[in-house]
Amino acid sequence: MSGDICLLCPRKCGVDRSVKRGYCSVGDAVRLGRAALHFWEEPILAGKRGSGAVFFSGCSLKCVYCQNFSLSGGEGIDISTERLADIFKELEDQGADNIDLVTGSHFIPEIAKALRIYKPRVPVVFNCGGYELTEALKMLEGLVDIYMPDFKYSDNALAARYSSAPDYPEIAAKAVEEMKRQVGETCVAEDGLMKRGLLVRHLVLPGAVANSKKVLDILVSLIDKEKDYISLMSQYIPFGRAKEFAEINRRLKPLEYKAVVAHAEKLGFKNAFIQMSDSAEEEYIPDFNGQGVLTKEEK
Ligand code: SF4
Repeated sequence: MSGDICLLCPRKCGVDRSVKRGYCSVGDAVRLGRAALHFWEEPILAGKRGSGAVFFSGCSLKCVYCQNFSLSGGEGIDISTERLADIFKELEDQGADNIDLVTGSHFIPEIAKALRIYKPRVPVVFNCGGYELTEALKMLEGLVDIYMPDFKYSDNALAARYSSAPDYPEIAAKAVEEMKRQVGETCVAEDGLMKRGLLVRHLVLPGAVANSKKVLDILVSLIDKEKDYISLMSQYIPFGRAKEFAEINRRLKPLEYKAVVAHAEKLGFKNAFIQMSDSAEEEYIPDFNGQGVLTKEEK
């Protein structure tokens, strides 16, 4: 993208990323924090072998409660798109059930290029924040098998307060619509793993049950509640700058989570992952130490 201005995501910074970083904190080279097998995604995605998770540096959302602040702030190792394609192959050779592209929305053109160099035989999962423009997602058409977006907010004021993105609800709704258009009907194979489709995640925030319920109201109109999957996450921990926001500087109360789960049941979602609240442990956060990013020769 050298010489071009970046308008890839809703931030539309208009910077030339070959000389300056945008809101997402990265330049025009693909930058990763880690590429390794990962065993903590929902069981429909990965069995015993794990996901081949590629953790991209930078983020266009930068939520105040981010649990990966160093990574979202841009720490990582620069690689070429050819190396990214090799990483997909290496993870597949390690036995990954899928290639799980984590928070790579600000590298969509480079990801599309790498997937054209090497399209893995296992499903490619685009695991993202839900803050993507339809035009950007179209670049991934035919290359991504499973979309796994977050749908964080239905409340514009909360989206502004915690992610500086007051337009998040409208952008996320359009993004999910485009993802659904691309993947069609969700398909789960006999081995119990999703081969194609949509899984939408929602992290329930403290003091924001109404936001969560309305997210579900929006989702029920966008996705197939009989076939597509949702995951209601209860593991909120006040990371990052959350201590500056008194109302979210605590864990989620079981009653708050139960109210959201009850609403999902009332709406009739057939495929919903529900979490036990005691699964909120820091050990689920991988070490972004550059594992798997460089070749042996480059280290
Ligand atoms: S991808 Fe990054 S530089 Fe481009 S518009 Fe979004 S935040 Fe700005």
